[in-house]
Amino acid sequence: MQNISPSPIPDKVAQAILGAGRRLDQRNWVPATAGNISIRLPEGRVAITRSGFHKGQLSPEALMVVDLHGQPEQPGLRPSAETLLHCGVYRRFPEAGAVLHGHSIANTVLSRASGDHITLAGYELLKAFPGFATHEASVTLPVFDNDQDIARLQGVVQDRWAGMQEIPPGYVLRGHGIYVWGRDMDSALIRMEALEFMLECEFHERKTR
Ligand SMILES: [Zn+2]
Repeated sequence: MQNISPSPIPDKVAQAILGAGRRLDQRNWVPATAGNISIRLPEGRVAITRSGFHKGQLSPEALMVVDLHGQPEQPGLRPSAETLLHCGVYRRFPEAGAVLHGHSIANTVLSRASGDHITLAGYELLKAFPGFATHEASVTLPVFDNDQDIARLQGVVQDRWAGMQEIPPGYVLRGHGIYVWGRDMDSALIRMEALEFMLECEFHERKTR
C-alpha cells in the first residue's frame, strides 16, 4: 500500500467517515465492500473512501482526496467507482457536506419492484426532513436504472434534478443502492436512517399485501 502520510485529510474528518462506516455496517447496509462515504473539504476537495475496503473496518489509509470532478489528489490512489456520483451531489448542492451510499436489502428489493420513484408517505419519521412539521407528508425518492458507466449515470441523475421543483434528500439506483446527503455527516446519517427505516417498513408491508 502506498504511503500517504502525512494524511491530507484532517483527523476529525477521517474519524467521522470511519464512524459512519461502522454505523452503516452495524445496520447491514454495506455488505462485502459495498457502499461509499465522503465529506466535503474546503476549496473544492472531497475526502472519500477508496475502492475495495470494507466500510465497517475502515482505517485512515482507506480514504483519499479527490476534486469536485473525481480527480484524485494523490496520483496512484484509486477512488471508489461511484466517486462521480458524490461529486455530482457536491457540485449541485453547495450546502451538502457529506454523502452516504449503501446497499440495503430493502432499497435493493423495492427499487427492483418500482418504476421511476418510490413514495414514502404518512410516516412519523418524515419529520426527520427539514420543512416537514408533521407525518402527513411524503417524500418521493427518484429511482434510476443502474449503470456501470457512472459518468453517464450522473448525467441522467442531473437531468432529472433539472426538471424537479423540490429536490428530494436522496435517490435510489435500481437493484443497487441508495444515495443520501446532508449538511454534515450527522445529518446525512439521520436522513439515511430515516429513509432506510421507511423503506424497510414498505418492504415488509408489500410482502404481506
Ligand atoms: Zn454501490
